[in-house]
Amino acid sequence: MTDETQGDSGPELAAIVAGGTVDVHDFPKPGILFKDLMPLFADGPAFRRVVDGIIEHHGVASFDVVAGVEARGFVVAAAIAYAAGVGVVPVRKAGKLPREVLSATYELEYGEATLEVHRDAFFAGQRVLVVDDVLATGGTAAATLDLVEQAGGVIAGFSVLMELAFLKGRERLGSRTVHALLTV
Ligand code: AMP
Repeated sequence: MTDETQGDSGPELAAIVAGGTVDVHDFPKPGILFKDLMPLFADGPAFRRVVDGIIEHHGVASFDVVAGVEARGFVVAAAIAYAAGVGVVPVRKAGKLPREVLSATYELEYGEATLEVHRDAFFAGQRVLVVDDVLATGGTAAATLDLVEQAGGVIAGFSVLMELAFLKGRERLGSRTVHALLTV
C-alpha cells in the first residue's frame, strides 16, 4: 500500500478517490496545491462507489439528513441523501441564505470566512451526517459541526473524500470522529 491509497474505508476506495483527483499547483493562489475532485464527480461508477462507501461506513439507519458544505460538499451531500432516501441541508457562505440564519466565523490562512445555515434547518435531535470534499486545516469542518449543533442537530458523522493530513485538521477537530476515504 502506498501513501496514495490509505483511508478509513480501505485501500480500494482510497485508490478510487486518488484516481479521480488532479493536483493543481498554485491555485487559487501561489503555494497552494489544490486537489481537484471534478474528475471523480464526472466518473459515474467511481462517484457511485464513493457515495455508497460513505453510506456503508455510517450505516443508512444512522442519520436522518445530510449537510453539505458549499460548494463541492453539495455534490456529495445531495448524492448521499438521494441514495439514502433522506433530505439535504446546504451550509452556505455568508449572505446566500434567504431566511434567518445562524453564523460561524473562522480563521483562514489569510483573513476569515463565515458559514451560515438556516436557523430552522434541523429539528431538535435530528441526526445529521456532515460531508465535504476536502479536510485541510479543519476550520471549515469545525465551524460547520458547531453550526449544526447550534441549530439543534446531533452530529451522526463527518465524512470527507480526502484529508490533507499535514494540515492537521483532525487535531483541530479534537474529539470529533473524522471519516476520510483518502488520507494524503
Ligand atoms: P479547511 O477549512 O482548511 O479544512 O479547508 C477545507 C475547505 O476548503 C473545504 O471546503 C475544501 O473544499 C477547501 N480546500 C481547502 N484546501 C483545499 C485544497 N488544497 N484542495 C481543494 N480544496 C481545498
